[in-house]
Amino acid sequence: MSTTSNTLLEIDGAMGEGGGQVLRTALALSLCTGTPFCINNIRAGRKKPGLRRQHLTAVRAARDISGAQIEGDEVGSMTLRFVPGCVQAGHYYFSVGTAGSTTLVLQTILYPLLLANGESHLTLEGGTHNPFAPPFDFIAHAFLPIINLLGPQVSAKLDRYGFFPNGGGQLQIHITPTSQLNGISLMARGKMISRQAKALITGIPDHVALRELQRVADQLSWAKDCLHHCPLPPAQGPGNVLLLEVQSEQVTEIFTGFAQRGIRAEAVADRTIKKLTDYLGVNVAVGEYLADQLLLPLALAGEGEYTTLAPSRHTLTHIEVIRAFLPVSITTTEMRKGVWEIRVKSSSL
Ligand code: ATP
Repeated sequence: MSTTSNTLLEIDGAMGEGGGQVLRTALALSLCTGTPFCINNIRAGRKKPGLRRQHLTAVRAARDISGAQIEGDEVGSMTLRFVPGCVQAGHYYFSVGTAGSTTLVLQTILYPLLLANGESHLTLEGGTHNPFAPPFDFIAHAFLPIINLLGPQVSAKLDRYGFFPNGGGQLQIHITPTSQLNGISLMARGKMISRQAKALITGIPDHVALRELQRVADQLSWAKDCLHHCPLPPAQGPGNVLLLEVQSEQVTEIFTGFAQRGIRAEAVADRTIKKLTDYLGVNVAVGEYLADQLLLPLALAGEGEYTTLAPSRHTLTHIEVIRAFLPVSITTTEMRKGVWEIRVKSSSL
């Protein structure tokens, strides 16, 4: 890991979609490269701009693992100054304090700890299954297996589920670091090996989960032994999530649907099924969310490539932030109709 330089990099938090990713990626790369930065207009593109509890927890977690100096770490703050220190491996506990996503806090501190001076163990408390964030299952079954191909060994364990609005979930992450991340090439997902649908439910009538699974059976013709009705302890709810998981030879992908007041169980299932069939309908390796989440590790590795669906605005914004910190070229090219290739290459290679 490099030492802190004196120049303060200025980041406009309103760039692209102007969301929380600009901040999280800036924190992660500041820690990995030793670059101090100042960010203005934090989350200017969101309805409630500025730091929310989840972002604040991420900022303080980034401070605590490195002894960083920070200014502006308050709920609602739209400006932050962050001068990183030296990242220390260790045992850390961070609590969001609301149902805010634990996995987005993880997104912020994972990479510096992947490259740190020893093993780390994280206990994170808050939401584990949040709309607009990676659910725990996605982290454990889709994202981390790819991260482990890059060299480190990272494992995840769920202690308690946490849903919006009650939160209270807890997960643990164990990290065995590596000195240098390897690049990967994921150009096709390969043949499908297995598939399963899980309907998590607690504090909501059971028929909601059963109807979601029935819809999956009807629309996708999945056999009964692929459908799992998963009642959870009442203290961990209320919540209902439908997870569709497809394991292929090279990649596992997970598509998620969250119950919403006023939306029928069948409609929640239909939306989730649509995300899955959009992915299965084209021969790409990774879906929309893995596509944006693989950018940062591959940029740190200095090389990598994968095929995916048309890049989201989130992905394009993420590319812009990464370029502000690292000398990398990241290209997005439509290879054939609906099949895009994202290629990452260090400009210094
Ligand atoms: P904001 O704070 O601006 O409201 P945010 O910080 O909550 O936004 P975004 O900046 O929108 O979050 O980033 C969301 C992250 O969560 C992205 O990395 C995206 O890939 C991931 N994500 C969102 N939904 C899913 C999902 N269903 N499965 C996996 N990952 C997801």
